[in-house]
Amino acid sequence: MAYTTAGGTKKKVCYYYDGDIGNYYYGQGHPMKPHRIRMTHNLLLNYGLYRKMEIYRPHKATAEEMTKYHSDDYIKFLRSIRPDNMSEFSKQMQRFNVGEDCPVFDGLFEFCQLSSGGSAAGSVKLNRQQTDIAVNWAGGLHHAKKSEASGFCYVNDIVLAILELLKYHQRVLYIDIDIHHGDGVEEAFYTTDRVMTVSFHKYGEYFPGTGDLRVSDGLDRFEPIVMAKVMEMYQPSAIVLQCGADSLSGDRLGCFNVTIRGHAKCVEYMKSFNLPLLMLGGGGYTIRNVARCWTYETAVALDTEIPDELPYNDYFEYFGPDFKLHISPSNMTNQNTQEYMDKIKQRLFENLRMLPHAPGVQMQAIPEDAVPEDTVDEDKEDPDKRLSIRATDKRIACDEEFSDSEDEGEGGRRNVANNKKGAKRPRVEEDKKEGEDKKTEIKEEEKSKDIGAEKTDSKR
Ligand SMILES: [Zn+2]
Repeated sequence: MAYTTAGGTKKKVCYYYDGDIGNYYYGQGHPMKPHRIRMTHNLLLNYGLYRKMEIYRPHKATAEEMTKYHSDDYIKFLRSIRPDNMSEFSKQMQRFNVGEDCPVFDGLFEFCQLSSGGSAAGSVKLNRQQTDIAVNWAGGLHHAKKSEASGFCYVNDIVLAILELLKYHQRVLYIDIDIHHGDGVEEAFYTTDRVMTVSFHKYGEYFPGTGDLRVSDGLDRFEPIVMAKVMEMYQPSAIVLQCGADSLSGDRLGCFNVTIRGHAKCVEYMKSFNLPLLMLGGGGYTIRNVARCWTYETAVALDTEIPDELPYNDYFEYFGPDFKLHISPSNMTNQNTQEYMDKIKQRLFENLRMLPHAPGVQMQAIPEDAVPEDTVDEDKEDPDKRLSIRATDKRIACDEEFSDSEDEGEGGRRNVANNKKGAKRPRVEEDKKEGEDKKTEIKEEEKSKDIGAEKTDSKR
């Protein structure tokens, strides 16, 4: 499917996004802000990237899809728990680790459905060879366990997506460049050689306290040579890349010193192997940089150069004072000496040598695709109406998350965007297609009209 141009190999890209995702709110003071997905989406729309890829609104993954990995009682609990009935569930909340890092919030289960729906649909699309790359920035929630929430993650969309890929692929490589260890994914596939997990992360008094490729503060690059060796030894036929952006310089929780270009090098490199590639989000807590990073990585997936000068967008003021796409590294010390990095590499290579070369598997009859449910009803649905189901109080809560002061420790900045119904999102035309996730056509003229309208609706 890939076709070659003078500039490199162009890939077909399918991108999954639901306009509701930015409305979910973990609560005041919580660093995880689904709003960053909306910021990313808005920024990449305004760069014109929607013209170069297929945009789909994901189906909501069902409980049945989720229990392909998670336990029935845990998913049942996630479906049932709400802020207004929490008191009846205190025992289960403890058992499933829901409450503090992983709070109960309005629409929690739907949020998990959208995040998982996008990742699973991306895998199905790749399996059907209908795309080269699938992107779901709402996915990548790598800490969720079979029967436990962890580290802001409830349902492990990555595990579900990999399970889907394994229906068609003998070996799947999972790479995780979040600053935290991808422990949930590792745990899920610990006993199979059909999935290899490689996680670059900080180690030592740092959540979750596990994992092997441990590095220290100030890391400023990922080593392609490690990946080259892994590819050579393991020979996967599909790749899942978790692009957690908390490894970027200046992250609110992270302490690496990676630039956006450095982060995206990993995308570029993994893409160069010309294998089916699923790109997912993950951590990332300085939200203006998350939007920058994932926008740029979408452009990298598309082999498209985009200017450093940011286009006007709904959240333009978040990106001051420079209004540039790229960020500068800080002057923090890289505590990982070359010697130390070499030692890590050495150990990793030794581990790789102990692996059987490209382990084989007996393939069995291919299970049915996780075909998203019949979407006919959803197609008829007015997207704005769906937005309004979660009532006004949701939106009020949401306004708080636009306050940058809480995010980035700088007061005085105001949110640019007001989340008024109908004003925010580009008008979309939904295309009914083969019982699949709906493709979203964004009409150029309508989009510019909308953007124009939004400019006037910029304060609260
Ligand atoms: Zn993280």
